[in-house]
Amino acid sequence: MPNGHTSSDAVPDPGVERVRVLLPLGLPGPLDYRAVPGPGLGPGAFVRVPLGSAERLGVVWDRESGADGDGIDEARLRDVLEILDAPPLGAVMRRFIDWVAGYTLAPPGAVLKMAMSVPKALAPEAGVSAYLGVPGWPRPEGFRITAQRNKVLELLAAGPPRTPADIRAETGAGASVIKGLEAAGALAVQRLAPPSPFAAPDPDRAGPALTPAQAAAAAKLLAAVRAEKFSVTLLDGVTGSGKTEVYFEAIAETLRRGRQALVLLPEIALSAQWLERFAARFGCAPALWHSELGAARRRRTWRAVALDRAPVVVGARSALFLPYAALGLIVIDEEHDGSYKQEDGVFYSARDMGVVRGHLGALPVVLASATPSLETVVNVERGRYAALRLGERIGSATLPEVGLVDLRAAPPPSGRWLSPPLAEALAETLEAGQQALLFLNRRGYAPLTLCRACGHRLECPNCSAWLVEHRASGRLTCHHCGYALRPPSSCPDCQAEASLAACGPGVERIAEEVSALFPEARQCIMASDTLAGPQSFGDIVAAVTSGAVDILIGTQIIAKGYHFPRLTLVGVVDADLGLSGADLRASEHTHQLLTQVAGRAGRAELPGRVLVQTYMPEHPVMAALASGDREAFIAAEKAERKAAHMPPFGRLAAVIVSGPREGEVDATARALGRVRPDAPGLEVLGPAPAALSLLRGRHRRRFLVKGARDRALQPILRHWLARVRPGKAVRIQVDVDPVSFL
Ligand code: ADP
Ligand code: ZN
Repeated sequence: MPNGHTSSDAVPDPGVERVRVLLPLGLPGPLDYRAVPGPGLGPGAFVRVPLGSAERLGVVWDRESGADGDGIDEARLRDVLEILDAPPLGAVMRRFIDWVAGYTLAPPGAVLKMAMSVPKALAPEAGVSAYLGVPGWPRPEGFRITAQRNKVLELLAAGPPRTPADIRAETGAGASVIKGLEAAGALAVQRLAPPSPFAAPDPDRAGPALTPAQAAAAAKLLAAVRAEKFSVTLLDGVTGSGKTEVYFEAIAETLRRGRQALVLLPEIALSAQWLERFAARFGCAPALWHSELGAARRRRTWRAVALDRAPVVVGARSALFLPYAALGLIVIDEEHDGSYKQEDGVFYSARDMGVVRGHLGALPVVLASATPSLETVVNVERGRYAALRLGERIGSATLPEVGLVDLRAAPPPSGRWLSPPLAEALAETLEAGQQALLFLNRRGYAPLTLCRACGHRLECPNCSAWLVEHRASGRLTCHHCGYALRPPSSCPDCQAEASLAACGPGVERIAEEVSALFPEARQCIMASDTLAGPQSFGDIVAAVTSGAVDILIGTQIIAKGYHFPRLTLVGVVDADLGLSGADLRASEHTHQLLTQVAGRAGRAELPGRVLVQTYMPEHPVMAALASGDREAFIAAEKAERKAAHMPPFGRLAAVIVSGPREGEVDATARALGRVRPDAPGLEVLGPAPAALSLLRGRHRRRFLVKGARDRALQPILRHWLARVRPGKAVRIQVDVDPVSFL
């Protein structure tokens, strides 16, 4: 037997100590290993351990976390191979990972994987070489002291040690000169720690003089930061009211106290304007964290965050899982935004888990929005969150006038999408030398291609979805899986020639109509697929700001936070788009999105106006937009949710069963259906085909579990799902607090 342990000599060996190691894998919990004696093997240490025939990196997990190890026989315990030279994962972060796993029903290792997204960062960065002269160096026979060599020797005769870059900067001498002197023994080499990758933001640079309303709100946030304990504050201000400058003050105070601040933004890769403002206030750039970051930057950033060398991190939702050494503030801007919900792997809401992180870390959380989510509004009413209101725009700017265009009364000409009132408003805006924004939340040219002869619709073979025509790229594309083909010349079903017709508009088609109406106007499309990364996005933002664009046509990515002073008209092409379907929050989300879009108009001296095209002018969302009465809308929405026991007045979880073979998926779904939990106040709906019943080649069935607010669904779900063994290729995913109902 390995290690000489047998059951007959099972006298406990006091020298053998077990540690639990959590691996970033989908295992049910930590595994037991034998601790190698030595320093640094406490909870949180990053370690290398054997697993099967491979080696893995993991984290020593606590005993008190309630997570048992696998309880493997002492005889079969394997050794921890190495303790990595990385700062240990802190206790708060370990509790956070356990908490998120418990809430989302994800394996803890899957959550740890998000925190260990850059394994390379666990190895120390190579330092840089620095050189110092050797006092009394005996010059070897025949070694010539050239002018350059002499300059270097003189420079390095006194400290501090200098890097090759320093030496080059001060003497002009390159690597070969240094190498020559080093070989001759004239220089001593030292290793210096790599320089901090992030400059220190200066909290005391002057920002704009705050308005009295801003100053009052900032004072409250400062108090929350100074309290150094958990609190949640909603910063609720109309678009353009200066929320950003207010929470900048909270960040400044956090920095003064020597702690780190995290700001979550939706679409961080596209936040050029925000970053400019940060630099103007703090004198340097923050650390960024998002999916487009290169590997080297990720590694440096992860490590800097862990070593307390990244004072401010600005990121997408995944930034919540960085290993902060001294986090003191979390700001979640546009807290209502849908991009905070992750819907693959671990299904979680970064807004909600951000609040949990604040609670566990005993620190303040700031939620900012002009259109807070109903969940947050209700938390304010229940007294769990504080609220600060900013009711006015900055300076002379006023909120734009919103008008509804009833498309039944004022329809666009046939085959067109802009109604006469909107076309007229565009003409006036151009005439005045101002800018307009046309908003349509649909990429491409047309959402549907249909055969006029037989009615056949072109659909994705892998998804239950139509193919969207993108004329600019000459493709029909599935927006769910990326499947694409060239538009066929005949109908694939009835073979009729030239019978395929584009139905409905996307932004490209609106651009075509704008060209026809206003051939002189300079226009530009802003949609995620027409932009190749943050660079080109930044270019467009700069072009609009400088006045090089007259009409901007875009999807929801332009709704978020942009400030274009000369933009005075916003036209919403199809306000009804988000209201169809079975989405619980369709009205709420449409109201939020359109309020944000409308908020792009008239943000400086020039007053703005908004025209909203709709077939349902009497719909509560449209009525609220026209009247500007957000409170009435929220009250109605709340009453409806309350009556239906829907969140935030009840709990909801979705269970999604999916797999490549329909029969197998149905069998698993039926098996789950047979043992569905049955408890008073609990409702289990389904199995039903998901709205996207086929997605990326996987068939999908859904359950919806509904329960009272005072009862956690997790134990019920856990018990239920444990009773069924899914078919071989079938996956069961749990989405607690679902946002998408597809
Ligand atoms: P919000 O986030 O509430 O929509 P912003 O923070 O973007 O509003 O502010 C709107 C505009 O007003 C920005 O251009 C910002 O730079 C400017 N601004 C904010 N506060 C002030 C202030 N106190 N004085 C002058 N300009 C300000
Ligand atoms: Zn598809």
